[in-house]
Amino acid sequence: AIYNLGSINADLFYHVPHLPQAGETLAASSFTRGLGGKGANMSVAAARAGAHAVHIGAVGHDGLWAQERLMEFGVDTRHIAGLPDTPIGQAIITVDQAGENSIVLLRGANHAIPQTTLAGALAEASPGDTLLMQNETLNQRKAAKMARDLDLYIAYAAAPFEAAAVTEVLPFLDFLILNEVEATQLEEATGQTPEQLGVPDVIITLGGKGARWLHKGKRQDFPAFPVTALDTTGAGDTFTGYVLAARDRGLPMPQAITLAMRAAALMVTRHGTADVIPDLKEVTEARF
Ligand code: ADP
Repeated sequence: AIYNLGSINADLFYHVPHLPQAGETLAASSFTRGLGGKGANMSVAAARAGAHAVHIGAVGHDGLWAQERLMEFGVDTRHIAGLPDTPIGQAIITVDQAGENSIVLLRGANHAIPQTTLAGALAEASPGDTLLMQNETLNQRKAAKMARDLDLYIAYAAAPFEAAAVTEVLPFLDFLILNEVEATQLEEATGQTPEQLGVPDVIITLGGKGARWLHKGKRQDFPAFPVTALDTTGAGDTFTGYVLAARDRGLPMPQAITLAMRAAALMVTRHGTADVIPDLKEVTEARF
């Protein structure tokens, strides 16, 4: 199983004629609400890839719909706390006619996940299960420590990048995934190349160029599947959920990476995030 300590956001899209200026009141022409947050996306991807994905997180009293949507996507939502006095995490996204956007983020319940929720979820984990984390929640180091005591496989996606957050969990990690920009940022922050970090499995995703796997002093490059990219939102989250789900059910890492790249390639041909993450059947049947 994959235990994912992660964010859950309401992505609130307001379509506007232009991005609002200081002091301006602007009418939106339409509104859509989607499920978002890197954590939620990764849980959905892992579930769609066939894993038992247990999401550890929190929403507010206004977040029941998000929990229900996660459940529809096959995520185990028993360890999502419903907090009475904190709003669900939100991304307030204004999108202009050219597709340019500006985003206001409210961390909300993502920064108030109760310790008891985390402990209660991990109490169910068995040795060899995966703990996955990203940087949109607190208590990553504490969770990593608990996971190490339980002999879990500890995976971390260093996004949104924050040098202090990564270095704090680095000694605990079995698996680290970064995109190209984050890999450069980490190298600048630590003065070490990804090979020198001492993490057994490091994956650097390279967008349309594919992905690189660093393992036991060796590097292996995987070219991306050729597709026409429409919307790359959620590609990295899909990759992460898929690669860990595949590993969790025993696939060797090279095969897990190839499967994850197939899923991510399909994902970039679609508009949207959690709602359009492909399932295992689509991914295995896709022809590139
Ligand atoms: P992030 O979204 O986290 O920045 P990347 O942009 O590196 O991550 O993309 C993650 C993965 O998605 C890549 O490793 C690749 O497998 C896939 N991907 C991204 N862009 C494309 C593309 N244009 N064509 C095919 N695959 C892509």
